[in-house]
Amino acid sequence: MAVLVTGGAGYIGSHTVLALLARGDEVVVLDNLSNASAESLRRVARLSGKAPRLIEGDIRDRQRLRDLLATGAIQSVIHFAGLKAVGESTREPLAYYQNNVSGTLVLLEEMRRAGVSQLIFSSSATVYGAQASVPYVETAAIGGTTSPYGTSKLMVEQILRDAARADSRFTAIALRYFNPVGAHPSGEIGEDPHGIPNNLLPYIAQVAVGRLPALGVFGNDYDTPDGTGVRDYIHVMDLAEGHLKALDALPRQAGYRAYNLGAGRGYSVLEMVRAFEQACGQSLPVTIKARRDGDLAAFWADASLADRELDWRVSRGLAEMMADTWRWQQNNPHGYR
Ligand code: NAD
Ligand code: UDP
Repeated sequence: MAVLVTGGAGYIGSHTVLALLARGDEVVVLDNLSNASAESLRRVARLSGKAPRLIEGDIRDRQRLRDLLATGAIQSVIHFAGLKAVGESTREPLAYYQNNVSGTLVLLEEMRRAGVSQLIFSSSATVYGAQASVPYVETAAIGGTTSPYGTSKLMVEQILRDAARADSRFTAIALRYFNPVGAHPSGEIGEDPHGIPNNLLPYIAQVAVGRLPALGVFGNDYDTPDGTGVRDYIHVMDLAEGHLKALDALPRQAGYRAYNLGAGRGYSVLEMVRAFEQACGQSLPVTIKARRDGDLAAFWADASLADRELDWRVSRGLAEMMADTWRWQQNNPHGYR
Protein backbone atom coordinates (compact mmCIF):
# COMPACT_ATOMS: atom_id res chain seq x y z
CA MET A 1 0.00 0.00 0.00
CA ALA A 2 1.23 3.48 -0.79
CA VAL A 3 0.99 6.96 0.66
CA LEU A 4 -0.50 9.52 -1.71
CA VAL A 5 1.39 12.79 -1.35
CA THR A 6 -0.42 15.72 -2.95
CA GLY A 7 1.92 18.59 -3.73
CA GLY A 8 4.83 16.19 -3.24
CA ALA A 9 7.08 17.91 -5.80
CA GLY A 10 7.09 21.14 -3.77
CA TYR A 11 9.42 22.33 -1.04
CA ILE A 12 8.13 20.51 2.04
CA GLY A 13 6.59 17.72 -0.03
CA SER A 14 9.84 16.71 -1.73
CA HIS A 15 11.70 16.49 1.60
CA THR A 16 8.86 14.43 3.07
CA VAL A 17 8.77 12.11 0.04
CA LEU A 18 12.50 11.55 0.49
CA ALA A 19 12.03 10.71 4.18
CA LEU A 20 9.18 8.31 3.33
CA LEU A 21 11.19 6.52 0.64
CA ALA A 22 14.24 6.36 2.90
CA ARG A 23 12.32 4.31 5.45
CA GLY A 24 10.83 2.06 2.80
CA ASP A 25 7.33 3.48 2.28
CA GLU A 26 5.81 3.41 -1.17
CA VAL A 27 4.88 6.85 -2.47
CA VAL A 28 2.62 8.22 -5.20
CA VAL A 29 2.85 11.99 -5.83
CA LEU A 30 0.01 14.01 -7.33
CA ASP A 31 1.19 17.51 -8.26
CA ASN A 32 0.10 19.93 -10.98
CA LEU A 33 3.61 21.47 -10.97
CA SER A 34 2.11 24.96 -10.68
CA ASN A 35 4.79 25.84 -8.14
CA ALA A 36 7.34 23.07 -8.52
CA SER A 37 9.54 21.25 -10.96
CA ALA A 38 9.64 17.52 -11.63
CA GLU A 39 13.40 17.87 -11.22
CA SER A 40 12.91 17.88 -7.42
CA LEU A 41 11.57 14.33 -7.59
CA ARG A 42 14.28 13.18 -10.01
CA ARG A 43 16.76 14.29 -7.36
CA VAL A 44 14.75 12.59 -4.62
CA ALA A 45 14.97 9.40 -6.69
CA ARG A 46 18.72 9.78 -7.02
CA LEU A 47 19.18 10.39 -3.30
CA SER A 48 16.95 7.53 -2.17
CA GLY A 49 17.68 5.02 -4.93
CA LYS A 50 13.90 4.68 -5.41
CA ALA A 51 11.69 6.59 -7.82
CA PRO A 52 8.42 7.93 -6.44
CA ARG A 53 5.61 7.72 -8.98
CA LEU A 54 4.67 11.25 -10.16
CA ILE A 55 1.22 11.87 -11.53
CA GLU A 56 1.09 15.33 -13.03
CA GLY A 57 -2.43 16.42 -12.20
CA ASP A 58 -4.64 18.66 -10.14
CA ILE A 59 -6.39 17.77 -6.88
CA ARG A 60 -9.49 19.44 -8.31
CA ASP A 61 -9.57 16.91 -11.16
CA ARG A 62 -12.18 14.60 -9.62
CA GLN A 63 -11.97 11.87 -12.25
CA ARG A 64 -8.20 11.70 -11.95
CA LEU A 65 -8.45 11.22 -8.20
CA ARG A 66 -11.27 8.72 -8.55
CA ASP A 67 -9.26 6.57 -10.96
CA LEU A 68 -6.17 6.76 -8.77
CA LEU A 69 -7.96 5.90 -5.53
CA ALA A 70 -10.05 3.17 -7.18
CA THR A 71 -6.91 1.09 -7.73
CA GLY A 72 -6.99 0.30 -4.00
CA ALA A 73 -3.27 0.96 -3.76
CA ILE A 74 -3.52 4.07 -1.54
CA GLN A 75 -3.76 3.67 2.21
CA SER A 76 -3.31 7.23 3.42
CA VAL A 77 -2.87 10.76 2.11
CA ILE A 78 -0.46 13.54 3.04
CA HIS A 79 -2.02 16.67 1.61
CA PHE A 80 0.45 19.47 0.81
CA ALA A 81 -1.08 20.71 -2.46
CA GLY A 82 -2.25 24.29 -2.38
CA LEU A 83 -1.28 27.89 -2.91
CA LYS A 84 0.76 29.51 -0.15
CA ALA A 85 1.67 33.15 -0.83
CA VAL A 86 -0.02 35.30 1.81
CA GLY A 87 0.22 38.59 -0.13
CA GLU A 88 -0.98 37.05 -3.39
CA SER A 89 -3.97 35.58 -1.55
CA THR A 90 -5.30 39.05 -0.74
CA ARG A 91 -5.14 39.94 -4.45
CA GLU A 92 -6.44 36.57 -5.73
CA PRO A 93 -8.71 35.28 -2.95
CA LEU A 94 -10.88 33.17 -5.24
CA ALA A 95 -7.87 31.24 -6.55
CA TYR A 96 -6.85 30.52 -2.95
CA TYR A 97 -10.29 29.32 -1.87
CA GLN A 98 -10.60 27.34 -5.12
CA ASN A 99 -7.26 25.52 -4.75
CA ASN A 100 -7.04 25.20 -1.00
CA VAL A 101 -10.66 24.72 0.06
CA SER A 102 -12.50 23.37 -3.02
CA GLY A 103 -9.48 21.23 -3.92
CA THR A 104 -9.45 19.69 -0.44
CA LEU A 105 -13.21 19.03 -0.65
CA VAL A 106 -12.76 17.11 -3.90
CA LEU A 107 -9.94 15.12 -2.32
CA LEU A 108 -11.99 14.32 0.80
CA GLU A 109 -15.05 13.31 -1.22
CA GLU A 110 -13.03 10.98 -3.40
CA MET A 111 -11.20 9.53 -0.41
CA ARG A 112 -14.54 8.77 1.23
CA ARG A 113 -15.88 7.20 -1.95
CA ALA A 114 -12.81 4.94 -2.19
CA GLY A 115 -12.74 4.09 1.52
CA VAL A 116 -9.39 5.82 2.11
CA SER A 117 -9.75 7.18 5.62
CA GLN A 118 -6.40 8.58 6.84
CA LEU A 119 -5.25 12.11 6.10
CA ILE A 120 -2.45 14.44 7.19
CA PHE A 121 -3.06 18.09 6.31
CA SER A 122 -0.57 20.97 6.00
CA SER A 123 -1.97 23.68 8.21
CA SER A 124 -0.18 26.72 9.49
CA ALA A 125 0.51 28.73 12.63
CA THR A 126 -1.42 31.49 10.88
CA VAL A 127 -4.72 29.83 11.98
CA TYR A 128 -4.12 31.26 15.48
CA GLY A 129 -4.80 34.72 14.06
CA ALA A 130 -3.70 38.09 15.31
CA GLN A 131 -5.08 37.86 18.87
CA ALA A 132 -3.52 34.65 20.21
CA SER A 133 -0.93 34.96 22.96
CA VAL A 134 2.50 33.36 22.64
CA PRO A 135 3.58 30.67 22.75
CA TYR A 136 0.77 29.36 20.55
CA VAL A 137 -0.80 26.28 22.07
CA GLU A 138 -3.33 23.93 20.48
CA THR A 139 -5.90 24.55 23.22
CA ALA A 140 -6.12 28.23 22.19
CA ALA A 141 -9.01 29.30 20.00
CA ILE A 142 -8.23 29.56 16.33
CA GLY A 143 -9.63 32.25 14.01
CA GLY A 144 -9.17 35.95 13.41
CA THR A 145 -6.98 35.13 10.41
CA THR A 146 -5.60 38.09 8.53
CA SER A 147 -5.44 36.82 4.92
CA PRO A 148 -7.48 34.62 2.56
CA TYR A 149 -4.56 32.17 2.71
CA GLY A 150 -4.87 31.89 6.48
CA THR A 151 -8.63 31.69 6.28
CA SER A 152 -8.38 28.87 3.72
CA LYS A 153 -6.30 26.85 6.22
CA LEU A 154 -8.78 27.63 9.00
CA MET A 155 -11.70 26.55 6.80
CA VAL A 156 -10.04 23.25 5.91
CA GLU A 157 -9.32 22.53 9.58
CA GLN A 158 -13.00 23.11 10.33
CA ILE A 159 -14.03 20.85 7.44
CA LEU A 160 -11.73 18.09 8.71
CA ARG A 161 -13.12 18.40 12.23
CA ASP A 162 -16.70 18.13 10.96
CA ALA A 163 -15.90 15.28 8.56
CA ALA A 164 -14.23 13.27 11.31
CA ARG A 165 -17.17 13.92 13.65
CA ALA A 166 -19.63 12.65 11.05
CA ASP A 167 -17.67 9.55 10.01
CA SER A 168 -16.03 7.51 12.72
CA ARG A 169 -13.76 5.72 10.22
CA PHE A 170 -12.17 8.99 9.07
CA THR A 171 -9.07 10.16 10.95
CA ALA A 172 -7.22 13.37 10.18
CA ILE A 173 -4.27 15.22 11.63
CA ALA A 174 -3.66 18.88 10.87
CA LEU A 175 -0.03 19.88 11.33
CA ARG A 176 0.33 23.57 12.07
CA TYR A 177 3.75 24.46 10.71
CA PHE A 178 5.68 27.38 12.09
CA ASN A 179 8.39 28.74 9.71
CA PRO A 180 9.98 25.98 7.62
CA VAL A 181 13.52 26.69 6.44
CA GLY A 182 16.63 24.76 5.43
CA ALA A 183 17.21 22.01 2.95
CA HIS A 184 18.27 18.38 2.75
CA PRO A 185 21.94 18.16 3.88
CA SER A 186 22.98 16.86 0.44
CA GLY A 187 22.26 20.32 -1.02
CA GLU A 188 20.38 18.56 -3.83
CA ILE A 189 16.84 19.60 -2.91
CA GLY A 190 15.62 22.77 -1.27
CA GLU A 191 13.25 25.72 -1.52
CA ASP A 192 12.98 27.17 -5.02
CA PRO A 193 10.60 30.14 -5.02
CA HIS A 194 9.53 31.59 -8.34
CA GLY A 195 10.32 35.29 -8.73
CA ILE A 196 11.30 37.47 -5.78
CA PRO A 197 11.01 35.42 -2.56
CA ASN A 198 8.32 36.43 -0.07
CA ASN A 199 9.91 34.57 2.82
CA LEU A 200 12.90 35.64 4.83
CA LEU A 201 15.37 32.77 4.42
CA PRO A 202 15.19 32.36 0.64
CA TYR A 203 15.53 36.13 0.37
CA ILE A 204 18.65 36.19 2.56
CA ALA A 205 20.10 33.23 0.63
CA GLN A 206 19.57 34.99 -2.70
CA VAL A 207 21.30 38.11 -1.37
CA ALA A 208 24.23 35.96 -0.26
CA VAL A 209 24.54 34.31 -3.66
CA GLY A 210 24.36 37.67 -5.45
CA ARG A 211 20.92 37.36 -7.06
CA LEU A 212 19.45 40.20 -4.98
CA PRO A 213 21.25 43.36 -3.84
CA ALA A 214 20.14 43.67 -0.20
CA LEU A 215 17.68 42.34 2.34
CA GLY A 216 14.89 44.73 3.30
CA VAL A 217 14.01 44.23 6.96
CA PHE A 218 10.29 44.86 7.41
CA GLY A 219 10.30 47.07 10.50
CA ASN A 220 12.70 47.50 13.43
CA ASP A 221 10.25 49.13 15.80
CA TYR A 222 8.33 46.08 17.01
CA ASP A 223 8.07 45.32 20.70
CA THR A 224 10.79 42.64 20.49
CA PRO A 225 14.34 42.57 21.90
CA ASP A 226 15.93 44.13 18.79
CA GLY A 227 12.78 45.62 17.26
CA THR A 228 12.57 43.14 14.35
CA GLY A 229 10.00 40.38 13.92
CA VAL A 230 10.44 37.11 15.79
CA ARG A 231 9.44 33.72 14.35
CA ASP A 232 9.86 30.05 15.19
CA TYR A 233 12.04 28.59 12.41
CA ILE A 234 11.99 24.84 11.91
CA HIS A 235 14.34 22.78 9.75
CA VAL A 236 12.45 21.21 6.84
CA MET A 237 13.92 17.76 7.63
CA ASP A 238 12.55 17.98 11.18
CA LEU A 239 9.23 18.96 9.63
CA ALA A 240 9.38 16.02 7.21
CA GLU A 241 10.02 13.66 10.11
CA GLY A 242 6.97 15.14 11.86
CA HIS A 243 4.84 13.90 8.97
CA LEU A 244 6.19 10.37 9.34
CA LYS A 245 5.43 10.42 13.06
CA ALA A 246 1.92 11.73 12.38
CA LEU A 247 1.36 9.07 9.73
CA ASP A 248 2.36 6.39 12.23
CA ALA A 249 0.03 7.87 14.84
CA LEU A 250 -3.04 7.98 12.57
CA PRO A 251 -4.11 4.35 13.05
CA ARG A 252 -3.89 4.81 16.87
CA GLN A 253 -6.03 7.93 16.82
CA ALA A 254 -9.71 8.59 16.41
CA GLY A 255 -11.25 11.62 14.78
CA TYR A 256 -9.46 14.88 14.18
CA ARG A 257 -6.40 16.26 15.94
CA ALA A 258 -4.16 19.31 15.38
CA TYR A 259 -0.49 19.64 16.36
CA ASN A 260 1.98 22.49 16.30
CA LEU A 261 5.24 21.64 14.53
CA GLY A 262 7.76 24.20 15.65
CA ALA A 263 11.01 24.44 17.56
CA GLY A 264 9.42 26.18 20.53
CA ARG A 265 11.65 29.25 20.41
CA GLY A 266 11.88 32.38 18.32
CA TYR A 267 14.63 34.24 16.47
CA SER A 268 14.50 37.81 15.22
CA VAL A 269 15.14 38.86 11.62
CA LEU A 270 18.51 40.33 12.60
CA GLU A 271 19.48 37.15 14.49
CA MET A 272 18.68 35.20 11.32
CA VAL A 273 20.85 37.52 9.23
CA ARG A 274 23.78 37.17 11.65
CA ALA A 275 23.44 33.38 11.72
CA PHE A 276 23.39 33.25 7.91
CA GLU A 277 26.47 35.47 7.76
CA GLN A 278 28.25 32.91 9.95
CA ALA A 279 27.24 30.11 7.59
CA CYS A 280 28.20 31.84 4.36
CA GLY A 281 31.27 33.68 5.66
CA GLN A 282 30.34 37.10 4.32
CA SER A 283 28.45 40.09 5.65
CA LEU A 284 25.13 40.79 4.03
CA PRO A 285 23.73 44.20 3.10
CA VAL A 286 20.56 45.05 5.02
CA THR A 287 18.22 48.04 4.78
CA ILE A 288 15.46 48.82 7.24
CA LYS A 289 12.06 49.22 5.59
CA ALA A 290 8.52 49.90 6.73
CA ARG A 291 6.56 47.14 8.41
CA ARG A 292 4.88 44.70 6.02
CA ASP A 293 1.07 44.78 6.15
CA GLY A 294 -0.41 41.99 8.21
CA ASP A 295 2.86 40.98 9.93
CA LEU A 296 2.76 40.11 13.61
CA ALA A 297 5.56 41.14 15.97
CA ALA A 298 6.43 37.75 17.41
CA PHE A 299 5.15 34.21 17.70
CA TRP A 300 6.49 30.78 18.41
CA ALA A 301 5.12 27.35 19.19
CA ASP A 302 4.39 25.41 22.29
CA ALA A 303 5.39 22.14 20.63
CA SER A 304 4.90 19.90 23.67
CA LEU A 305 1.73 18.20 22.42
CA ALA A 306 3.53 16.73 19.39
CA ASP A 307 6.33 15.68 21.73
CA ARG A 308 3.92 13.84 24.04
CA GLU A 309 1.51 12.34 21.53
CA LEU A 310 3.60 11.90 18.37
CA ASP A 311 7.00 11.36 20.01
CA TRP A 312 8.30 14.17 17.79
CA ARG A 313 10.64 17.04 18.53
CA VAL A 314 13.16 19.05 16.53
CA SER A 315 16.76 17.90 16.49
CA ARG A 316 18.32 20.51 14.20
CA GLY A 317 19.33 23.96 15.38
CA LEU A 318 19.84 27.34 13.78
CA ALA A 319 23.41 26.71 12.55
CA GLU A 320 22.27 23.58 10.71
CA MET A 321 19.30 25.40 9.16
CA MET A 322 21.64 28.05 7.81
CA ALA A 323 24.42 25.72 6.66
CA ASP A 324 21.94 23.52 4.78
CA THR A 325 20.17 26.49 3.18
CA TRP A 326 23.51 27.90 2.07
CA ARG A 327 24.72 24.57 0.63
CA TRP A 328 21.51 24.25 -1.41
CA GLN A 329 21.68 27.88 -2.59
CA GLN A 330 25.37 27.73 -3.51
CA ASN A 331 25.03 24.46 -5.40
CA ASN A 332 21.85 25.65 -7.13
CA PRO A 333 22.03 29.45 -7.47
CA HIS A 334 19.03 29.36 -9.82
CA GLY A 335 17.14 26.61 -8.06
CA TYR A 336 16.09 23.67 -10.23
CA ARG A 337 16.36 25.71 -13.45
P1 NAD B 1 5.08 24.51 -2.42
O1 NAD B 1 4.38 25.51 -3.26
O2 NAD B 1 6.53 24.28 -2.62
O3 NAD B 1 4.33 23.09 -2.56
C1 NAD B 1 2.96 22.98 -2.89
C2 NAD B 1 2.86 22.02 -4.06
O4 NAD B 1 1.50 21.85 -4.42
C3 NAD B 1 3.58 22.53 -5.31
O5 NAD B 1 4.43 21.52 -5.77
C4 NAD B 1 2.48 22.86 -6.30
O6 NAD B 1 2.88 22.63 -7.64
C5 NAD B 1 1.38 21.91 -5.84
N1 NAD B 1 0.01 22.34 -6.10
C6 NAD B 1 -0.55 23.57 -5.86
N2 NAD B 1 -1.85 23.57 -6.18
C7 NAD B 1 -2.13 22.31 -6.63
C8 NAD B 1 -3.31 21.69 -7.10
N3 NAD B 1 -4.46 22.37 -7.20
N4 NAD B 1 -3.25 20.40 -7.49
C9 NAD B 1 -2.08 19.70 -7.42
N5 NAD B 1 -0.94 20.25 -6.98
C10 NAD B 1 -0.96 21.53 -6.58
O7 NAD B 1 4.78 24.86 -0.90
P2 NAD B 1 5.39 24.26 0.44
O8 NAD B 1 6.16 25.33 1.11
O9 NAD B 1 6.02 22.95 0.19
O10 NAD B 1 4.05 24.07 1.26
C11 NAD B 1 3.34 22.84 1.28
C12 NAD B 1 2.06 23.02 2.10
O11 NAD B 1 2.41 23.48 3.39
C13 NAD B 1 1.11 24.07 1.52
O12 NAD B 1 -0.22 23.61 1.73
C14 NAD B 1 1.37 25.28 2.38
O13 NAD B 1 0.26 26.13 2.45
C15 NAD B 1 1.68 24.65 3.71
N6 NAD B 1 2.50 25.51 4.57
C16 NAD B 1 3.69 26.00 4.10
C17 NAD B 1 4.45 26.85 4.90
C18 NAD B 1 5.74 27.44 4.39
O14 NAD B 1 6.19 28.44 4.95
N7 NAD B 1 6.39 26.87 3.37
C19 NAD B 1 3.99 27.19 6.19
C20 NAD B 1 2.79 26.66 6.64
C21 NAD B 1 2.04 25.82 5.82
N1 UDP C 1 10.95 39.55 6.63
C1 UDP C 1 11.76 40.61 6.33
N2 UDP C 1 12.16 40.80 5.03
C2 UDP C 1 11.79 39.95 4.03
C3 UDP C 1 10.96 38.84 4.35
C4 UDP C 1 10.55 38.68 5.67
O1 UDP C 1 12.12 41.39 7.21
O2 UDP C 1 12.16 40.16 2.87
C5 UDP C 1 10.53 39.31 8.04
C6 UDP C 1 9.03 39.35 8.26
O3 UDP C 1 8.59 40.66 8.51
C7 UDP C 1 8.89 38.40 9.48
C8 UDP C 1 10.01 37.40 9.28
O4 UDP C 1 10.95 38.02 8.40
O5 UDP C 1 9.14 39.12 10.67
C9 UDP C 1 9.55 36.09 8.65
O6 UDP C 1 8.83 36.38 7.46
P1 UDP C 1 8.33 35.24 6.48
O7 UDP C 1 7.60 35.90 5.35
O8 UDP C 1 9.45 34.34 6.14
O9 UDP C 1 7.33 34.37 7.37
P2 UDP C 1 5.90 34.79 8.03
O10 UDP C 1 5.80 36.28 8.07
O11 UDP C 1 4.89 34.17 7.14
O12 UDP C 1 5.94 34.20 9.39
